[in-house]
Amino acid sequence: MLLVLPVSGAPRRPPGTVPISVRVLDEDSGGPLPVRIHIAPAGAGRKGRPLSEDTIDGRWSPRLPRGRYLITAHRGPEYTMDRLEFTADIGAPSVELRLRRVVDPGPWVAADLHVHSSRSFDSRVTPEQRLRSLAAAGIRFAAPVEHNTTGGFPRESAAQLGVSWVPAVEVTPAPAMGHFSVFPYEGDPPLSMAQGADRGLLALLRRRNPDALIQINHPRLSGGMGFFNVIRLDVRRGKNMELLPTQADTIEVLNGIDLQRAGQAERLLTEWMELFERGHRYWATGGSDVHHAEQVPGYPRTYVRAQEGEEGLAGLTRALRRGRALVTTGPLLELRQGDRWPGDTIEVEGDRATVQLRLQAAPWVDVRRIELWAGGKRLWSKELAARPLVAGPPGGEKEQARREAQLFEGSVTVEVPTGARGLIAVARGDAPLGRTGVLRPFPSLAFTNPLLLPQPPR
Ligand SMILES: [Zn+2]
Repeated sequence: MLLVLPVSGAPRRPPGTVPISVRVLDEDSGGPLPVRIHIAPAGAGRKGRPLSEDTIDGRWSPRLPRGRYLITAHRGPEYTMDRLEFTADIGAPSVELRLRRVVDPGPWVAADLHVHSSRSFDSRVTPEQRLRSLAAAGIRFAAPVEHNTTGGFPRESAAQLGVSWVPAVEVTPAPAMGHFSVFPYEGDPPLSMAQGADRGLLALLRRRNPDALIQINHPRLSGGMGFFNVIRLDVRRGKNMELLPTQADTIEVLNGIDLQRAGQAERLLTEWMELFERGHRYWATGGSDVHHAEQVPGYPRTYVRAQEGEEGLAGLTRALRRGRALVTTGPLLELRQGDRWPGDTIEVEGDRATVQLRLQAAPWVDVRRIELWAGGKRLWSKELAARPLVAGPPGGEKEQARREAQLFEGSVTVEVPTGARGLIAVARGDAPLGRTGVLRPFPSLAFTNPLLLPQPPR
C-alpha cells in the first residue's frame, strides 16, 4: 500500500532530497517487525546507490533524491518478502510494507555460526550493528567468530532483540593453514597461532576447551584459508585423509562466500557426503561469513534442534556437536524416523528404512525437488510442482498461507545400500534466490545432517 501525503501550509522551495517514512508491519499481529529495508533506484534513467537499514521497530525515515524507487522488506526465509515501487517527489511519501511468517520452524533454532564485526580487522560493522542485522534476518543464535580474537555482543541489546550468542573465535594458524571456529571460547585470544593446524594447535584448543565445538571453516576457500586445499585433500582417491583433524566436530559445508561461486555449494555437499561415507564423521553446518554492512546474515544458515529440556546455549552447542542440525539457503527441510533426528541411529529392516520428510518454503524461495542419499547414491527423489515465485504483500488467510508454504510431508521407504553410513535429505530449486536486490543471487539448497545407519559388526 502506498500513500502520498500532500505537504500542508504555504508552498516552499522543494528541497534537494525528500523525506520519506517507511513502516513494516506483521500481517497477522499488526505489530512492528525487525527487518532489513532496502531501497534501490528504479525505472528509466535510474541512478544512485541502493540504501539499506536494519530496523528493529520496522520504521525508517531516510531522505532520498527525487525519483522512482523499489523498496523491499526482508526478514529471512521463514517470512514472505514484500516489495513495491514508489515515487519520492514533492511531498513526504509514506510507504507501508507487510510481512507474514509462513514457515513454522517448531523447535528448530535459526543460527548463523559465522559472523564478523569490527572486532575483526577486516570488518567495520560494529557489534551492535551486527546484532541488529542478525535480528532483522530472523537469526536467533549466533557465533561471532572474530579473527583471532574473542567475539561477543552487547548483552542487554542481545536479550532485547532475542538473539542468543556464545563467545567465539575464528582461529587462523600461521603459516596459512585454514580457518577454524571454536565456541564457546572464553578467555584470552588464542595464543599458539604459530603452531599451525598440523602441529598441535587443534589438539591444544581441544584440551583447553573440552566442551567447545571445533569447526573446519570454508574448507575449499583459496589463499590458504581452506584447510582441505592446504592439505591437498582428495576424498575420492582417499589421499591425505590422515591429515584430517580428529578434534573437529563440524565442517562448514556451506559458507556465504562459496554461495557466490557457481557450482561450489554442490561440490562441497558432495565432498562432505563422501567424507562421511568413508567414516570421517564431521557434522555439517552453514554460516554466512558476513563482514560488511550491505551483506545480509543467515545465507546460508544452520537450523539447530536442542534436546528437549536442554534449550539453553550449552544445549544448542551440544546439539551441533551431535549432528542435530540442518543447513539451508532458504527451504526448511526436516528428516526423521519417528522421534529420531539427524545424528541418531535409525532402524533398518532387512535393507529397508522408512523415514519422514517435511519441506517448507516461503513463496519467494524456489524448491523443485527433494532427494534422499546414502552410500554415495541417490535413493529416492521427488519433483515438486512449479509455483510462481512471489515477493509482495501477503494475501488471504494465515492458515492458508502456511499450508501453501508446506511443499511436502510424508513417509518414504528406501532400500539402503550395504555399508552405507548415513541417510541424508537434500532439497534444491532451479531459480537462484535473492534476485530482489536485498540479497545477492545464490542457489536454493537445503540438506540435513545424516540419520545414522546401523553398521554391521566388523
Ligand atoms: Zn574464515
